[in-house]
Amino acid sequence: MSIADNLHAVRGRIADACRRADRPVGSVTLVAVSKTHPPEAIREAYAAGQRDFGENYAQELRDKIRALDDLPGIHWHAIGHLQTNKARYVAGKALVHTLDRVDLARELVRRAEGAKVEALIEVNIASEPQKRGVLPADLEMTLATLGEVEGLEVAGLMCIPPRGEVAEDSRPWFRLLRELRDRHLPSGALSMGMSLDFEVAIEEGATLVRVGTAIFGERPPS
Ligand SMILES: *Cc1c(COP(=O)(O)O)cnc(C)c1O
Repeated sequence: MSIADNLHAVRGRIADACRRADRPVGSVTLVAVSKTHPPEAIREAYAAGQRDFGENYAQELRDKIRALDDLPGIHWHAIGHLQTNKARYVAGKALVHTLDRVDLARELVRRAEGAKVEALIEVNIASEPQKRGVLPADLEMTLATLGEVEGLEVAGLMCIPPRGEVAEDSRPWFRLLRELRDRHLPSGALSMGMSLDFEVAIEEGATLVRVGTAIFGERPPS
């Protein structure tokens, strides 16, 4: 299967999930997670109509933005943990899905040089001790603090649920993220769902799904 074939299949599954959930297909943005895959793979997906791409590592994202700056209308998403000293690689150039602290927000705004910074808050949805992100119990306070950062717009919430065996294992966590969104950020985006569970995420309200393996194939072990 080529990247174009995989994309076609994933888009079909997104459309089916939208129909099941009684949602318009246009309400879900597919972010193709291209981390570790070469720029040529991104060009192939772009040629098949894909415009949104997600990367985990700030330097890799910076390099790919440069290598692909001839592609009009491409949108970049920074979906991995972002160190404050690497904020400059993505500020103003990518939608950050993993905002989890105010010093990162301030650095993103500073480095964006006047461009408005939109970011999603990463929520540690199952309060797992080894995971990053804002705890559900701290979300309200974090939102209040981030609300004071001028030039920043918190545009939604993101989560990576505990690794499950099957897609259904993620459903309660997706549902919880949606409830937090409804309560604290009513018009915000919901970035949730990966290759294993993006259809369940759409059924639970995802507006951004982050799909890597199902589009680009297995990543080389790192
Ligand atoms: C790698 C990654 C994805 C994509 O995962 P797949 O299982 O390959 O679809 C999505 N979100 C984040 C945060 C990731 O790190």
